Amino acid sequence: METLTTICETLLPPLPQNSLEKNSHKIQYLHKASGSQYPIPDEVAEVVMKRGFLEARILVCGLLRILSTRIGTLLLCGLFCFSKSWPYINKFSDIPLEDREIVLQKLFKNRFLTPVRVGFLFIKFLCLYIFFSQVGENSKNPAWNDMGYQVDNEENPSETPDERPLQKGIVETIYETESSIVKSLVQKGLKVIEDTKNNMYKVQCDVVIVGSGCGGGVAASVLASSGHKVVVLEKGNYFTKSDYSSLEGPSQSQMYESGGILSTLDGKIMVMAGSTVGGGSAINWSACIKTPDSIIQEWGDDKRIPTFKSPDGLKNPNIGRNLHLHPVIMAWGYFPESNSDLKGKIYEGGIITSVHKVGSYDSNVRAIIESPILGPGSFAALCPWTSGEDLKNRLLKYSRTAHLFAMVSDVGSGKVRSDGRISYKFNAMDKESLKHGLRQALRILIAAGADEVGTQQSDGQRFKYGELQNGNE
Ligand SMILES: Cc1cc2nc3c(=O)[nH]c(=O)nc-3n(C[C@H](O)[C@H](O)[C@H](O)COP(=O)(O)OP(=O)(O)OC[C@H]3O[C@@H](n4cnc5c(N)ncnc54)[C@H](O)[C@@H]3O)c2cc1C
Repeated sequence: METLTTICETLLPPLPQNSLEKNSHKIQYLHKASGSQYPIPDEVAEVVMKRGFLEARILVCGLLRILSTRIGTLLLCGLFCFSKSWPYINKFSDIPLEDREIVLQKLFKNRFLTPVRVGFLFIKFLCLYIFFSQVGENSKNPAWNDMGYQVDNEENPSETPDERPLQKGIVETIYETESSIVKSLVQKGLKVIEDTKNNMYKVQCDVVIVGSGCGGGVAASVLASSGHKVVVLEKGNYFTKSDYSSLEGPSQSQMYESGGILSTLDGKIMVMAGSTVGGGSAINWSACIKTPDSIIQEWGDDKRIPTFKSPDGLKNPNIGRNLHLHPVIMAWGYFPESNSDLKGKIYEGGIITSVHKVGSYDSNVRAIIESPILGPGSFAALCPWTSGEDLKNRLLKYSRTAHLFAMVSDVGSGKVRSDGRISYKFNAMDKESLKHGLRQALRILIAAGADEVGTQQSDGQRFKYGELQNGNE
């Protein structure tokens, strides 16, 4: 824990107030905020152990073990671990903060020690996400004021409906006991047969659909409308408008797959997906993009639909294959209030008001550009880290930093090996399309008058207004 605490402190170090860039209001808290504050390191450790897949747990625990010894620290941190007094070699937690920062800067850039870099990036993501999304009893985070963020969390009793929309058809297993569940299923019109030999209940229906998302929900509706008895199995819980809190941390934790903290096995892609009744449709941004004719044709032509039916479980080898992720890459632009005609804060108003298609010379769509909403936790976690001071200065600009992302309908695909273990192989053409889309997103931000633009690549590269005027590509 000592090593993890000092890594968190290095990522988000306490600083003198005057070291941060001048802001429109006096900085109250952000300068002294430290990643080592209770309970951040404990929660990072808890998330790694509860939500990290086996490789991630081994990687982080191994890294912390190595850095908790002098010899291990010498191997990873080199000269920075030497001290003038006995025992002459420090373990990571005993290295002075300024030197720890340089060590992290070097390790973040190191292309050869990939597992070490991935381990540190995972800790960075968790530490910053947890720090800036956590709230106290007043549903506030003390750093939000300095970031220009306010959340409207007032309850509106007039919006609480008497009956929830799906009430007539839903059985919520979290509220059921072994004896009550059969009664509830029968009440919903299902026939339940007790199989005493195998110690189970069998529910009779025509179709079982796994997942209540955009695909499963629509299929269930069509099949039920045509007279079939349909059972939809959903692993997430049921929330309606009156249950929503507007708070990023608890909402993502309850409504997203793996609480919003899920990456591919190589750590290169963060995977976002809804896991609640309604699946993605309950958390997505409602941009309705017409399905292109070419895709409809592809679905219509594809006659190789495998059947999954098997008397003793699901054994079809295609299960888990052909996972398409719609990869996304993000650009950001900073629009200081004083220099811009665009008013308001980035979290106000509708999320997406337009979708831009990026075409290629043969007029095929290569990527689309959309605007995401990033809460303070996601913003901090995705910020490139080059130093504690740089990070805090970026956070001060949160409310006026707009993001655009380029997204491709991917040719490449991945596999879900078992629960939460996803591997994904990038296709070269997808990479090119993403780069093309990213350039276009940066151009849009510049054309809209951004003072500064950049990407979320870990080198933290960005361009300021003067450089943009000089035609820097
Ligand atoms: C943040 C975000 C914003 C988005 N914005 C837009 C947008 O504006 N416009 C747009 O068109 N698309 C958007 N999308 C994409 C869109 O939501 C997805 O493409 C769509 O939801 C996919 O539908 P699906 O049915 O394949 O899966 P999902 O909608 O993800 O549903 C899958 C469901 O299955 C459940 N499930 C999984 N495994 C099991 C299991 N073993 N047992 C029981 N249940 C299980 C999950 O909990 C989940 O509820 C967005 C996605 C995200 C993450």
